Amino acid sequence: MNKVVIASQNKHKLEEIKDILKDFPLEIYSMDQVGLKDLEIVEDGHTFEENSMKKAVEVMKRTNAIAIADDSGLEVEAIDNRPGVYSARFSGEGATDEKNNTKLLDMLKGIELHKRSARFVSVISVAFPDGEKLSVRGECSGVIGFEEKGENGFGYDPLFIVPEYNKTFAEIDSDFKNKISHRANALKKLKKELKGLL
Ligand code: IMP
Repeated sequence: MNKVVIASQNKHKLEEIKDILKDFPLEIYSMDQVGLKDLEIVEDGHTFEENSMKKAVEVMKRTNAIAIADDSGLEVEAIDNRPGVYSARFSGEGATDEKNNTKLLDMLKGIELHKRSARFVSVISVAFPDGEKLSVRGECSGVIGFEEKGENGFGYDPLFIVPEYNKTFAEIDSDFKNKISHRANALKKLKKELKGLL
């Protein structure tokens, strides 16, 4: 059976990816299980594709197994698609969700709702030991609100309004978010791609 390592330290992402892979004949391992718990990979790429593929290739080389990695972030049109790949560290050294959200609101001051379009992006990359590689991209469109709303989720969720529901990601139930999110959309594509390969 093929061995797959999921190159994420995030338990939530690990479970979501595992769930998608359960239909395939694969042995699934976490980073802890292959002794790579403390592996730090610098995300120095300029695109989500570069960062996620860098992580997947690094883990594939160290384990000689199929490796799956993801990279995600928020793109806001009015500010040239920032914070993009810098989403986690948008407010600089010692960045927190709170500081990142405050910085985003400051940068969007005076900008009307119809010009506050944004999208969450998730790119999942797979590196195979025989050199084969693939990346899939999932997106979720929304609008950046004028204040934080809701208690669920993490990151930019309290500012990200999904127009169809007129609620932020932090106001909707997490199970429902996980069905419509950028990551869910990328995982659906991943499943299709893997069907042709595994
Ligand atoms: P990473 O893919 O774990 O490196 O996440 C990058 C950053 O993007 C996170 O730290 C968050 O700031 C942001 N982000 C990615 N996905 C989400 C999401 O679903 N909700 C809120 N913020 C997110």
